[in-house]
Amino acid sequence: MVRKPIVMANWKMNKLPSEASDYIQHIQKPLLAYPEIETILAGQDVLLDAMVNAAQGTTIEIAAENVYWKERGAYTGETSPAALADLGIKHVIIGHSERRIYFRETNEMVNLKALAALRNGLHPIVAIDEQIQIVSHSDHMHWVVNEVIEALKGINIEDIPNVVLAFEPTQSIGSGQALNADQAQENLYLIRQTVSDMFDAQIADRVRIMYGGSVKPANALALLEKPDIDGVLVGDAALDANTFLELVRLAQ
Ligand code: PEP
Repeated sequence: MVRKPIVMANWKMNKLPSEASDYIQHIQKPLLAYPEIETILAGQDVLLDAMVNAAQGTTIEIAAENVYWKERGAYTGETSPAALADLGIKHVIIGHSERRIYFRETNEMVNLKALAALRNGLHPIVAIDEQIQIVSHSDHMHWVVNEVIEALKGINIEDIPNVVLAFEPTQSIGSGQALNADQAQENLYLIRQTVSDMFDAQIADRVRIMYGGSVKPANALALLEKPDIDGVLVGDAALDANTFLELVRLAQ
């Protein structure tokens, strides 16, 4: 199965609306040379309207960085999945380790958010992390498998191809210490096997899985050459539009 590669930027809380529009204007034309790569930009909620407008008519897809699991109601400050869909957002990151660590998101909340995203026609990009304090290999594997099982629980098999998974080891995020390509491949293989065990091998073969954590042009190619790595989710390095373009070129 040929899976369309993804290069995705996670801007986190680092850009202003005007900077977001400039970035999109800068990359839109050069990206036309890479139609076989899916390019996604994730921004904080206050950027999304500007991002959607700037990306109109381009090949760039826009993602939110978080969502709540209810469509409407008295949940001050939360973001409705129905509102994201209405705005023209296609994807939403769910369960990023920064949300798990700083905002105490649990596996159960990640699952509720993934189900709500799908219910509203959004594609969840579910981040799977790891625990720094876990040192044994088997405990680590168990942690990863369990996060996948808990995140995908109750999702209909026909919705699974609309889910993207992203393995992001906590100690690699923002540290400059990416996993080496072999270690990343081992984890992504494990994640694909878990999807296969939960659903079936054909579905697992269709699901795209990204690696994230200190990806930059110097290490992207080795990662993207691995059989189970279908894309890269990039924080710091992708704040620069030219570096993002360079990553797309490498993914080709
Ligand atoms: C991220 O936070 O999703 C990420 C991958 O960050 P960085 O590339 O900066 O490690």
